[in-house]
Amino acid sequence: MSIQKHIKKLQEELHEHNYNYYVLDLPTISDYEFDMKLKELQKLEDAHPEFQDPNSPTMRVGGEVTKNFKTVVHDSPMYSLSNSYSREDLEDWHSRIQKIIEEPVEFSCELKYDGASISLTYEDGKFLRALTRGDGTQGDEVTSNVKTIPSVPLKLKGQDFPSRFDIRGEIVLPYEGFAKLNAERVEQGEEPYANPRNTASGSLKLQDSAEVAKRPLLCLLYNLTGDKLGVSTQMESLEKARAWGFHVPKQAKLAKSIDEVFAYINYWDEHRRDLPYETDGVVVKVNNLQHQEELGYTAKSPRWAMAYKFKAEQVSTTLNQITYQVGRTGAITPVANLEPVQLAGTTVKRASLHNADQIEKLDIREGDVVFVEKGGEIIPKIIGVDFQKRNPQSQPTHYIETCPECGTVLQRKEGEALHFCPNAEGCPPQIIGRIQHFISRKAMDIEGLGGETVALLVRENLIEDYADLYTLKKEDVLPLERMAEKSAENLIQGIEASKAIPFERVLFGLGIRYVGETVAKTLVKAFKSIDVLASASVEDLVNVDEIGERIAQSVVDFFQDEDNKERISRLQNYGLNLEVSEEEMENQSQKLANLTIVISGVFEKVSRKELQQLIEQHGGKNTSSISKKTDYLVAGDNMGPSKRTKAENFGVKIISEDEFLEMIG
Ligand code: AMP
Ligand code: ZN
Repeated sequence: MSIQKHIKKLQEELHEHNYNYYVLDLPTISDYEFDMKLKELQKLEDAHPEFQDPNSPTMRVGGEVTKNFKTVVHDSPMYSLSNSYSREDLEDWHSRIQKIIEEPVEFSCELKYDGASISLTYEDGKFLRALTRGDGTQGDEVTSNVKTIPSVPLKLKGQDFPSRFDIRGEIVLPYEGFAKLNAERVEQGEEPYANPRNTASGSLKLQDSAEVAKRPLLCLLYNLTGDKLGVSTQMESLEKARAWGFHVPKQAKLAKSIDEVFAYINYWDEHRRDLPYETDGVVVKVNNLQHQEELGYTAKSPRWAMAYKFKAEQVSTTLNQITYQVGRTGAITPVANLEPVQLAGTTVKRASLHNADQIEKLDIREGDVVFVEKGGEIIPKIIGVDFQKRNPQSQPTHYIETCPECGTVLQRKEGEALHFCPNAEGCPPQIIGRIQHFISRKAMDIEGLGGETVALLVRENLIEDYADLYTLKKEDVLPLERMAEKSAENLIQGIEASKAIPFERVLFGLGIRYVGETVAKTLVKAFKSIDVLASASVEDLVNVDEIGERIAQSVVDFFQDEDNKERISRLQNYGLNLEVSEEEMENQSQKLANLTIVISGVFEKVSRKELQQLIEQHGGKNTSSISKKTDYLVAGDNMGPSKRTKAENFGVKIISEDEFLEMIG
């Protein structure tokens, strides 16, 4: 097969797998196989730039940076929707319509997805561009960002599409992805995003499309716009869009009468919580396109469609107490402890109050009866106080001035919403939190050591910081509660093995404020070693792409701190990777991504430590004991027979040193 044909074949295969996974939700190959094929394609395309294709599946990883989004006029305007909030509103609309259309009207009922509206243009079956709604007449071109969203087809299936058309939809961030994103932000000492909708629309305007690629956005389509679409009803057009490979939610349904519309609304008002993303209502559309044309548009919205907004579920309950949590970075979060109450199918006991401003704005006081709402967010929020029920003797909330954990006077920086406990070295949740972060999966990923054990080790005065981990001996940890011989051994081994973790992950693990995974990688690329990084000035730092003033200052502050300096020199002495060689940079790959590999025995060509490093370098995970999660056992000389039996029992592939080296090329 010619190279060009091979490239084309891989592209088509990957488009198909992508569709199976993200649109049908029925993958037919493993993530690993998918990645391998993608990598193969990337390699071929790199070697043959003449066959470059802007709609290749490799383009989804992003990388393009847009400083200013171009404003583009929509081929046809993007309208808004009229809203209704009651049955009567809808009935009125129905009778207005029936006066114009003198035969029974059918409706398409769809959910109103709550995200950012988007218009996608396709030309000759290929994705051409994406525009935000903007003012309805013109929007911002966000093509390179939207291209990274896997549910947006880059090439259409079938043949019967018009040569050019628009399709409109909504880009949403499903709850799960939203929660994950926020957990990462909190972990990095940043304020969590308020809700999935704003986060989705914010994502479309990120300058770096590689950042967008990391957000699990989903594009849901609801409207075809253009000539010669070959359909006569809205339901048919949804069917068509589906056939071309678009993600059209299957909840869309035909209603033959207004009563069926109400039944649909009632059903989804109750069941929308089971959906993986946020919806805020139902959109009812006249199904027949001929009828739609007769009805036409007002200046702002089509007369043939009406949104029905769900009421957010709300309850009132008593706020018993406001408590304050101290995070790893010292950030204080006020928490409302509520009289338990049922809301949208769950018992709510706590709600975040965000910060001092929020408490002041809503004038929330202990003992108040408050309104709690669960909109799309998973975490309920307090939206207001029932002032009629307020005790006349109650006093305004006085925000704490000292840390609830260590008593230090709190600080609040100019322009920041959160209060901080500055006692980084002496405040228990900060001490424990920093070590927990250091050992976490994306940092040092220490096998056999969990968050609970870290807290225990600190409480028992066995460690005070992460450098102390490397001084631990089996005898130290054995007396701990629930620590058996075997687990103590695993823990020490896990700590030892973490010395092979690459520099970028160590740097992330240090817990420098605002230095998340991506920033850590960027810094490692730019500065190569901790010594160079530690002596960099704010100016040096901001000269690096993507590093702003705030990150730069935080890095400089970190390395000026005497305690940090001492810790880092200790880590250096213990043999952790605190620099990266050019060679290592070049040798990085993802060939072993998602693979868990155990090594055992003695090797000829490389040392055990080198093997561990190779696994890390190529994106794999090295663990010490075999389980059903293990993918490969690299077997050297003198490997114990029990290891082999265990591997065979779990169906783990056993490979030699040479075979392993071949795998990573
Ligand atoms: P609004 O922003 O309240 O004027 O509502 C109009 C917006 O609802 C449109 O711009 C769409 O982005 C969005 N929308 C969400 N789901 C649908 C749907 N199924 N059909 C039409 N519009 C929808
Ligand atoms: Zn404190």
